[in-house]
Amino acid sequence: MPRETHDAKTARVGRIITRLNIAYPDAHCELNYSNPLELLIATILSAQCTDKRVNLVTAELFRKYRAAADYARAGTAGFEQEIKSTGFYRNKAKSIQACCRKLVERHEGAVPRTMEELTRLDGVGRKTANVVLGNAFGVNAGVVVDTHVTRLSQRLGLTSEKDPEKIELALMKLVPQAQWTMFSHWLIWHGRRRCAARKPDCGSCELRKLCPRLGVEEITAKTRRIQKKPSR
Ligand code: SF4
Repeated sequence: MPRETHDAKTARVGRIITRLNIAYPDAHCELNYSNPLELLIATILSAQCTDKRVNLVTAELFRKYRAAADYARAGTAGFEQEIKSTGFYRNKAKSIQACCRKLVERHEGAVPRTMEELTRLDGVGRKTANVVLGNAFGVNAGVVVDTHVTRLSQRLGLTSEKDPEKIELALMKLVPQAQWTMFSHWLIWHGRRRCAARKPDCGSCELRKLCPRLGVEEITAKTRRIQKKPSR
């Protein structure tokens, strides 16, 4: 693909946004929550875990733990068992309890509304902070970069960066700020429903005329080779 100028790429992103908005007009965060604290806890639990599994766990958890202080004073062993099925439960329990202690000590139990304050909490990086700011507070402070956003940004030729923070910076330069939160929802929904990691459905894809499909041939050839391998 010939080198695309920044202006041409920005215009292409505009067309991508139009099509994704038509395909997924009600795209939203698929974690269940009813307040900022619940979204913060659910997002920490969602690392290396599906939203579906997190929603199963939080359905019980949120009935029992109503405030940051409840998590802060919970017995660690019992709390670990309650979140065990989300994986990496020891680290997650440690992060959630330390994070909630800081919420109590520094913010009177409330979830702060700035990137700076959020990323000073345990277990909270830019990705988690962006999820909370964008969805619980309606603040477009950045773009959530998860595995789907990373994969799609590369396949769509929006960036060749691999580091999430560099990908985020590249996307912030291409997407209007008012759409930063929605843009990540659209890419995540498209990644889950159309542009899967191993088997992207390019034939039916709403973006096929706008997508250079970078790296797709390699991944489909690799998948074919794995499928052909005789089983022993
Ligand atoms: S054309 Fe293929 S690679 Fe590009 S976004 Fe669609 S499914 Fe993904």
